[in-house]
Amino acid sequence: MKRLLWFAAVLGGAAGLTLVVSMPPARLALPSAADAGGVAGILHIHTNRSDGGGAPDDIAAAAARAGLTFVVFTDHGDATRAPDPPAYRAGVLCIDAVEISTTAGHYVALGLPVAPYPLAGEPRDVVEDVRRLGGFGIAAHPDSPKDGLRWGDWNAPIDAVEIINPDTSWRARVVEPAIGPRLGLVASLVTYPFKPEETIASLLGEPTDVLERWDSLTPRRAIVGIAGVDAHAKLAPFDAEPGDNRYALPFPGYEAAFRTLSVRVHPTRPFTGDAAADADALLGGIRAGHLYTAVDAFASPAAFEFSAESGGRSVWQGGELPATEPTISLRVKSNAPPSYTTTIRQGRGAVLAERREQEFTVAAPTGAGVYRVEIRAADRPGSPLWIVSNPIYVRAPETRDPEPERQWIDSAVLFPSEPLGWSVEHDPGSTADLELLPDRTGARMHLRYSLAADPLPRPFVAIAAPVHTIGPTDRLALTVRSEQPMRLSVQLRSSVDGAGEERWQRSVYVDSSARQVIVAFDDMTPVGVTRTAHPPLDRSPTLLFVIDATHAKIGSSGQLWIERVALVRSADAR
Ligand SMILES: [Zn+2]
Ligand SMILES: [Zn+2]
Repeated sequence: MKRLLWFAAVLGGAAGLTLVVSMPPARLALPSAADAGGVAGILHIHTNRSDGGGAPDDIAAAAARAGLTFVVFTDHGDATRAPDPPAYRAGVLCIDAVEISTTAGHYVALGLPVAPYPLAGEPRDVVEDVRRLGGFGIAAHPDSPKDGLRWGDWNAPIDAVEIINPDTSWRARVVEPAIGPRLGLVASLVTYPFKPEETIASLLGEPTDVLERWDSLTPRRAIVGIAGVDAHAKLAPFDAEPGDNRYALPFPGYEAAFRTLSVRVHPTRPFTGDAAADADALLGGIRAGHLYTAVDAFASPAAFEFSAESGGRSVWQGGELPATEPTISLRVKSNAPPSYTTTIRQGRGAVLAERREQEFTVAAPTGAGVYRVEIRAADRPGSPLWIVSNPIYVRAPETRDPEPERQWIDSAVLFPSEPLGWSVEHDPGSTADLELLPDRTGARMHLRYSLAADPLPRPFVAIAAPVHTIGPTDRLALTVRSEQPMRLSVQLRSSVDGAGEERWQRSVYVDSSARQVIVAFDDMTPVGVTRTAHPPLDRSPTLLFVIDATHAKIGSSGQLWIERVALVRSADAR
C-alpha cells in the first residue's frame, strides 16, 4: 500500500513537473482593431460525413464560439456528391467543399459543381478536372510525412498551397527520429486540458519546405498560400491512416482547433447575410489571394494589411502591379505586439525589410519581384510564424512568344485501317459491344459499355489492338467523342518475358465534341508496379483505351465513338 502511494506521488510529481516545464505561454490578448483586414474563418474541416467527429451544426456552433465568420467543410470524396448549398448555421457561413485523393496527395477543391464522373487518379488529372469545372484547388498538407498524403506534382497548375496544417505538424513529430519532438507531443497531452489552443499552436512546426516551394513557384504565376486546420476533432495516438478511428482520442476539439489559427479574407463584396452571395464574395477573395493566415493562439484578434501603391494605383496582397511603374511602395500595417518582428520577403530567402514597427512603407526594388510578409512571435521559443500574407506580384510585361502550334506527322494509321485488329476486353461482370459504323470518310468505332456494379474485381471495359512497331513515333493521336464527359485511360501493355504483363497509362478528358488528343508515350505512368517508368517502345505492345472504376462510377454505362487513331511524331523532331 505504502509502495503504491509512493508510486502515485512520483507519477503525480512527474506530471506536475511536465506541466510546469512544458506549459506554453498564454495567448496575448490584443485590443480589437476597427479593421482586421478581412473576415475570419478557416478551411479544411472534416465532419462526420467522412472521418471527422462532429456534425456540421455542432462544428458551426464551435466556430461561432471561437469568433469565426466562415468555415469550409472538406470531407473526403470524389466530387460526385452534390455539395450542400452555402448556409448560415449559428451565424457562421458554412461552405461545403471536398478533399479529393489523388495517387500522389490530397487536393482540396472549393466552388465545384457535382462532377460528372469521379475525380481521382493522377494529381495533374485532378487539377485539370477541378479547373475545367470552375473550382479552386489547394494542394493539401504538401509536407505530410505520409507518402500517400504528400503532394507529389509541382508542375500541375494548382491554384493554392496549404502552408500551415496542424494535423500534419503532429504527424511530422510522430515520425521524427529525435526523441524531443515526440516528448513534446506527450507533454502536450498534459498541457492540452489547461491551454488547448496554445498547446496545438506550440506543436506547429516551421513550414520551411512548403514556404520554399511556394516561393519557387510564385515568380512564374500567382499561387495562393492559405492555412488549413484539417480538423477532425480526434487524434490517432500514432501514425494511423486517415479514417482509421480505432484508437482515436476525442481531441483536439473543433473549438480549440478554431481558436488556434484562422484565415482572414477580404471578400470581393461586403457580406450581406445572403449565404449564396456571401459565399461567392468570399470565394472571390480567396481566388484573388486577398487573405492572410494568423496563428491566433499566439496573439489575437489580429489586424493586418499588406498593400502596394504606385502612381495612384493600389493593390492588396494577392494583387499585381506592372514592373514598368517607376516607383512602387510596399506598405505593411498590423497590430503586432512590440516584441514581434515583421519581415517583407522577396522570393526565396531575400529579406527586403525587417522591422518592429506596426506600420511602415518601403520602396520595392526596380524590376519584377514577388513580395510577401511574415510576422513572427519573436518572444516565443523559435520565433514561430504569427502572420503569413499572400504575395504582391510585380511583373514584367509578358515577352514570351506564344508557343508555336506543333504539327504532327502520321507514321502509322491504326484506325481506320486494314486489317481491323480491334477487339474488346472486360471483366466478367461488365459488358461491351464494339461495332464499326460506316462513314463518308471511312468508318467509326462505336463502343457501348456497361460497367459491373460490383466493385470487386475492379470493373473495366477496354478496346484493344496490337501495335507491331512504334518507333520512330513518340506519340498517339486519337480523335474521339463520348456520350457524356468522361476520362479515358490510354494504355500500352507489354508482356515481359516470364514476368507477365506490364501496363502504362495516360488519362485524357473526352466529351460530346469530337477532338483530337495527343498522348506522348514518355508521359505515360505505370499502372501498378513496372520495371521501367515509361513504356519500352521496342517491344510489340498492345494499345488499349480503357474505361475503369478510377474515373467511371461502377454500374454506369455509356457510349464512345473513335474516328481516328494514329501513331505520330512531331514535324520538328525529324
Ligand atoms: Zn488530407
Ligand atoms: Zn483533410
